[in-house]
Amino acid sequence: MNSHPNHYDIVIAGAGFSGTITALALQRSGFTVCVIEKGMHPRFAIGESSTPIADMILRSLSAQYDLPWLYDFSRYGSWQQSHPEIVCGIKRGFSYFKHHPGKTFYTDADHSNELLVAASVSDSMSDTNWLRANFDGFLVNKIQQYGIDYFDNTGIISATRTNNQWLFKMSRQGTVSSAQASFFIDATGSGILADQLFGVQSSAAGFLTNSFAVFSHFDQLPRWSSLLEQKNISSNDYPHDPDNSALHHILDEGWAWALRFNNNRTSWGFALNGENPSFQKMTTAEIWNTIRNRYPDIDQILSCGSLAQQPGRIIQSGRLQRKLDHGYGEGWLAMPHSIGFVDPLFSSGIAWSLAGIERIVKALSENKGFGEPLYDQLQQYEYRCFEELKLIDKLVAGCYKTMQNFPLFNAWSMMYFTCTILYEQRRLNHQPVGYFLDADNLDVQQIVHATYNDLLKLTEQDTISSKHIAQFTNTVRQRIAPFNTAGLLNPNSKNMYRHTVAVM
Ligand SMILES: Cc1cc2nc3c(=O)[nH]c(=O)nc-3n(C[C@H](O)[C@H](O)[C@H](O)COP(=O)(O)OP(=O)(O)OC[C@H]3O[C@@H](n4cnc5c(N)ncnc54)[C@H](O)[C@@H]3O)c2cc1C
Repeated sequence: MNSHPNHYDIVIAGAGFSGTITALALQRSGFTVCVIEKGMHPRFAIGESSTPIADMILRSLSAQYDLPWLYDFSRYGSWQQSHPEIVCGIKRGFSYFKHHPGKTFYTDADHSNELLVAASVSDSMSDTNWLRANFDGFLVNKIQQYGIDYFDNTGIISATRTNNQWLFKMSRQGTVSSAQASFFIDATGSGILADQLFGVQSSAAGFLTNSFAVFSHFDQLPRWSSLLEQKNISSNDYPHDPDNSALHHILDEGWAWALRFNNNRTSWGFALNGENPSFQKMTTAEIWNTIRNRYPDIDQILSCGSLAQQPGRIIQSGRLQRKLDHGYGEGWLAMPHSIGFVDPLFSSGIAWSLAGIERIVKALSENKGFGEPLYDQLQQYEYRCFEELKLIDKLVAGCYKTMQNFPLFNAWSMMYFTCTILYEQRRLNHQPVGYFLDADNLDVQQIVHATYNDLLKLTEQDTISSKHIAQFTNTVRQRIAPFNTAGLLNPNSKNMYRHTVAVM
């Protein structure tokens, strides 16, 4: 028997959705858990666009850990039926529109400057954009309803380990208290705490992608589809309303996301190439205004809305790419988003985090005594996370290399869609779930690697002719052919894909 009043099997730091869903699944598996959050909910958080993979994992976690209410959040329709008060948005898929500096948006009958990839067949079956302040706040209430101890506004000052037990010293508004636990999970969404407690460093070393973001939330931004209508650009061929999707505006310097919620709020941000020297000496406002001044339609949209109360300002990140040197150690592990991050392009973060919850809870549940076999599994977990980051990094880095050349962007991005469809198929076929985005599929790895090298050679040339672009597109088409169940790069589709999620 342990006599410490705050003694738990597992202490989790961080009450984002990763920390809270992990806490719930662990408690349902028989562990005593507490969650420590340094801030206070409802709080602003970025990372809002979910995907079919995220939805599949939510459904699976709901069934496996007897959390029936979690299921409803896996589709827009059931979310609206059960929890209309928790704000979210419809996300039917991905939409991309290429803008050229100094010009208003234009395209042609072949949709040369557009790419729309639908994931779901209807609004009610669709994925969602999560208003994190609402959704994460709901989850924090849930853990407390389930009897999980929750300490907010609380920072961990120190962690000492003796006889396989952690003793955490914590501070809440100057009052110091302590908690004891056998195991610790870092769900803080950055590498800072792992460095502070365990001396494990986080860095951008080895990443191919180099980007940063400036972003906020806005109220009353006009719909992109209304602007298209004003320009007499037909949306008849579109598989979905682009505003009901993860809407991307592709720029020469990077890209913008517009994620709309159903309360007239929009998450808007620019993810920009960090190698561009002109940004390095600019303030956040100067960067924001420079992009607006270069792209008239973006300026028009942003000039019509107002900053939302939360967060109430434009936020600039540092370089987004980061990776911890280790994802676990004696008596602790880090959740995926604490281990590392690449870039928001392709919205892989939520799904990757949920995939991490699946693995972590399984590993801990199979090793309740926290003995040696757990560490074999954690070693694999760390290796997998690192391999997955490497794949995501390459997929994203290729996109940044092609943002000035939309046909190339279009062709290269099919690598991501191929990986995601393969992974979805594995899950839907109830096959053993391998690495996220099929990062352990050697055939896929090989084609991504070979095609990335082709892309590098091509983009290093002074001029890229339309013949080269056609050749590259054809190479991608041939390489993905064995896996291409969605008609990707079929010339007849003209960049409009009606339904890519594998259907069983
Ligand atoms: C600019 C940007 C855009 C993104 N867009 C998308 C997207 O569209 N789709 C997508 O899938 N993913 C996206 N992501 C990734 C997404 O943000 C993450 O996958 C997601 O937030 C992970 O959730 P989490 O709960 O692990 O961490 P977080 O959401 O970061 O939550 C961590 C929690 O820990 C708390 N905390 C921090 N430090 C401490 C501490 N020392 N002690 C206690 N608590 C602490 C924080 O206050 C916070 O509440 C984006 C990321 C960025 C940077």
